[in-house]
Amino acid sequence: MQIFDNISSMQEWSLQMRKQGNSIGLVPTMGYLHEGHLSLVKEAIKNCDKVVVSIFVNPMQFGQGEDFEEYPRDLSRDTSILEKMGVDAVFAPTAREMYPSGFSSSVEVSGEIAEKMCGASRPGHFKGVTTVCTKLFHACLPDLAFYGQKDAQQLLIIEKMVRELNFPLKIIRVPTVREEDGLALSSRNVYLEGAQRQEALVLIKALKQAQKQIRGGERDITRLTASIKEIIATSPQAEIDYVEILNGDDLSELERIEGRVLIALAVKFGNTRLIDNLLVEV
Ligand code: AMP
Repeated sequence: MQIFDNISSMQEWSLQMRKQGNSIGLVPTMGYLHEGHLSLVKEAIKNCDKVVVSIFVNPMQFGQGEDFEEYPRDLSRDTSILEKMGVDAVFAPTAREMYPSGFSSSVEVSGEIAEKMCGASRPGHFKGVTTVCTKLFHACLPDLAFYGQKDAQQLLIIEKMVRELNFPLKIIRVPTVREEDGLALSSRNVYLEGAQRQEALVLIKALKQAQKQIRGGERDITRLTASIKEIIATSPQAEIDYVEILNGDDLSELERIEGRVLIALAVKFGNTRLIDNLLVEV
């Protein structure tokens, strides 16, 4: 397995692979890999001749006072897992390589899709995400790039960027991988202390309850939102950042439940902010 820390050698390798007729799959990550990331990698291996996994904790997508410094990192563990899986290349650049001094370009998807949910609570976050993904696409030259449904808003924004700016690649959606008890896997789960791990189950409980109510015929968004909040309130440490029920294709507001609906939550347990969502089709 090749490990690249600079953009030009990564690009050169990808160009060569493409010239030889290989399709390239890219799995962008911030590392500290868990089974959620690995399901993206497996999907990439299944669908592409060559697979690149990028590992980069992107400073541009973290705001002031967020967990950029504390974000868990373990590059040697990550690379040894990926090597065993049969990944062809890892792209792990430094922040300086990605953002040399004087760097001042950005790519941004504007409008309500980027302003709601995490866009409202983390200003500048998605501009950091779309900029880094653009750079990763240019460095790794993928035919397919794999993203998790766990970060539903990120996925929709990247899809919109790729579509509107005519990137010559296809985004592949991968379902959320969960612990046996339903907690969505996240690199941030390691921050959960003591009772918080158990209390974090209110996220999936609230989502499932809302899904069940919708399947049972409930169409009223105010009532659904209230019952989600009620379940989250059963956890003494949970502090709601947002509860949103929106159009699952573009995050526009809904009058009532219809079509593809995204139920999305962000909840803080102490300093740990967790997100989760379910897509429901009626
Ligand atoms: P991250 O390292 O958190 O930036 O995540 C890298 C990629 O893995 C993103 O496309 C995420 O949506 C995806 N991902 C993270 N957690 C999960 C999960 N539990 N299931 C599926 N994909 C995930």
